Amino acid sequence: MTSMMMSIPRQIPLLVIDEEVLLPGSSMKIPVTSSRNMAMIKSRLLNQRSLTSTIIGVVPKEPEQHLDISGTAPLHTVGTAAVVVQVTGISWPQPSFTLLVTGLCRFRLEKLVMEVPYLVGVVTQLDKLAVDDEDDDNQELMDLIQSFRVEASKLLEMLDVSNSTVARLKRMLGTLPAHHLADLCASLVNASFIEKLQVLDAVDLSERLKKSLPLLVRQIEGLEMLRKSPNNRTEKHYAIQPKNRVMIIRPQRDTYSRSDHALVPSDDEGDELQELHQKLRAAKLPPHASKVAMKELQRLKKLASMSPESGIIRTYVELMAELPWSKSSPETLDINKARQDLDADHYAMDKLKRRVLEYLAVRQLKNNLRGPILCFVGPPGVGKTSVGRSIAQTLGREFHRISLGGSCNQSDIRGHRRTYIGAMPGRIIQGLKTVGVNNPVMLLDEIDKLSTGIHGDPAAALLEVLDPEQNCNFVDHYLNVPFDLSKVMFIATANTTRTIPPALLDRMELIHVQGYTQEEKLHIASRHLLPKQLEEHGLESHMVQFPMESIKILVSCYTREAGVRTLERKLGALCRAVAVHVAEMNVGDLTKKDNGQTKLPIILDEAAVEDILGPALYSNNELWSRLGQPGVAVGLAWTTVGGEVLLVEANKMEGDGELVLTGHLGDVMKESARLALNWVRTTAREYGLQIDGELLAHTDLHIHFPAGAVGKDGPSAGVTIAAALISLFSERPIDADVAMTGEITLRGVVLPVGGVKEKVLAAHRAGLKQVILPKKNGKDLHEVPENVKVSDGLEVIQIIK
Ligand code: ADP
Repeated sequence: MTSMMMSIPRQIPLLVIDEEVLLPGSSMKIPVTSSRNMAMIKSRLLNQRSLTSTIIGVVPKEPEQHLDISGTAPLHTVGTAAVVVQVTGISWPQPSFTLLVTGLCRFRLEKLVMEVPYLVGVVTQLDKLAVDDEDDDNQELMDLIQSFRVEASKLLEMLDVSNSTVARLKRMLGTLPAHHLADLCASLVNASFIEKLQVLDAVDLSERLKKSLPLLVRQIEGLEMLRKSPNNRTEKHYAIQPKNRVMIIRPQRDTYSRSDHALVPSDDEGDELQELHQKLRAAKLPPHASKVAMKELQRLKKLASMSPESGIIRTYVELMAELPWSKSSPETLDINKARQDLDADHYAMDKLKRRVLEYLAVRQLKNNLRGPILCFVGPPGVGKTSVGRSIAQTLGREFHRISLGGSCNQSDIRGHRRTYIGAMPGRIIQGLKTVGVNNPVMLLDEIDKLSTGIHGDPAAALLEVLDPEQNCNFVDHYLNVPFDLSKVMFIATANTTRTIPPALLDRMELIHVQGYTQEEKLHIASRHLLPKQLEEHGLESHMVQFPMESIKILVSCYTREAGVRTLERKLGALCRAVAVHVAEMNVGDLTKKDNGQTKLPIILDEAAVEDILGPALYSNNELWSRLGQPGVAVGLAWTTVGGEVLLVEANKMEGDGELVLTGHLGDVMKESARLALNWVRTTAREYGLQIDGELLAHTDLHIHFPAGAVGKDGPSAGVTIAAALISLFSERPIDADVAMTGEITLRGVVLPVGGVKEKVLAAHRAGLKQVILPKKNGKDLHEVPENVKVSDGLEVIQIIK
């Protein structure tokens, strides 16, 4: 056999094992439990594409008699370099891995160069990775090798060849260098930790053979005795079974102590279980839950700590111990303070604040939570979540938000049964674990975005959660014992009520939150959003100045939304830019004058805003450019994200009387376009229009609703379409600053529509001057802020018809 020089690196990461020895040539499964080993795996193996490129050092801890003063076992100075063949495991609920490693060669651990988060050692290789065969000159050694080979083949004869290692070894017996043979045989037989350490320490070949030969002989004798004994269990039983170690055939005594180890937890583990027990006791579980938890704990004690089942049970018991069965935050409810808190955190929103205070006052008087669940309905970014947070704060309760958007399984709410692999509790129980008290304010965000999947309806599970009659006994499938949710204060939010299942809607009291006017946005931006953003970016008032004009520009030209979320984001972007600027300035420069000019504060004027955010995103020019032509009218639409200005473009061309509708329209909208057209046809003469059946017979009409990609539906564009058509046929443009909304019937009766406040606000945002509304919507006008109606000159005209 030729000798090949192969060597291991000088520095290798170390895996520390306890009571085990990995001998070169053999393979071993090593469960990873300690945090150091875990850290090593995570940084050296899991991030690696190929495992074999990493050579690790497997080092046993010294046996117990070598304990140092601190009581921790030091590392043995000889270890085994190994390749990791496989990493198996799970990363959830708690990471747990098992490595399959194959030993390569011995090394001496010279020193540790790193100890945290895992060990890295400087090592000296002791075995060659490939060795020449025996030295023929040494007769004594040759004899030793000879007898070792004889014993080895005897042992292999007695073992079960169905085991692949045994079969391989048998095949290679004649050719395997004695170095390897000794290691492999020693790894096959049953030997104590100390005996194996001695084999590991035996770098010299004759020494190694001398240490391992007796182990071999003892194993053979043991097996022979078993064969002879009349009540022998089947031979196969004593053959090698792969388990934690690749080979296990142990002398009687050791087997006993081993199995003992497997059943009775080691001291460490015992401590851990003891701790868990105490945690359970401290958590003061109600009797029904306590019974279940204790039973599981008993089961856990009986299981080997490495069995997969024990991990599952442990996670369960830990959850039971961590849940706030009897822990609540002390509640402070002072209506005056609540009013002050709500006012301090939120501008406007009077209706919502009033209703929230009423709700809290009733709770204070009645001292219970039975009553409808509050549900804030409104466009995104109007402060629904933020009010929920304020409520929690003013009550001194914890706050937890559960985002339901896209939830389509019951198990999201109620958890998976534990029989299911990877089972976990539902969001409610997880939330309670996170906050650690049983009376948080839980915000069920986007309750309108629940969908029904194939695995049960999440809304049905939510119904149970929100029902005061049932939620004191809420059963999460994972937990499988009732948990009392009656102290939790639930608040829901939604963009629209249309998609909320009726049964759920029935449980909730809806509080509508409208979009903000430009004026309100200015206040919110300057009083709330800006101070918050400045603080978040570590900016102080002497560093930056935001003139009101810039905020105005931001509100009108960079955002067009009902809420203030984008506005907040844009302010954040500005603050970031300023923060970078400030950080770049030399500290010395901060106070110095530069060319006679102070650098600070940075003034964010309009030019600076444009510089940072780019050119304005919205300008009214785009709208105006299309207006002023016959056939174009401005409508108003209501969407879940607030009101929108909607253009209607109509055009006619030669054809065969076809009506073409484009712009991603729903059925109702298409119908209202037909209705409007037919009304125009029947009343054409009344308005002095030059159309009759014959003319239309040679004309195609095309009505388009930009933007084409946005879905539009609903009847409220009827009036606008009619106006666009009349303008088209009469060739008179509609005033460019008028918007209108209203449903139209075939006889030209105008019916009221929904979302009036949002629509008027949208018109206001877009800079329009007149809004035409159905008469019957007059009652909704009180919702529109006065300053929009009066001071900014937006005139609301009501159609009499
Ligand atoms: P929603 O839950 O309605 O989508 P958020 O509560 O997330 O909206 O609000 C977005 C941001 O706007 C938050 O930072 C919030 O504090 C702020 N905000 C919204 N409305 C107001 C208001 N009336 N006064 C002060 N800040 C507000």
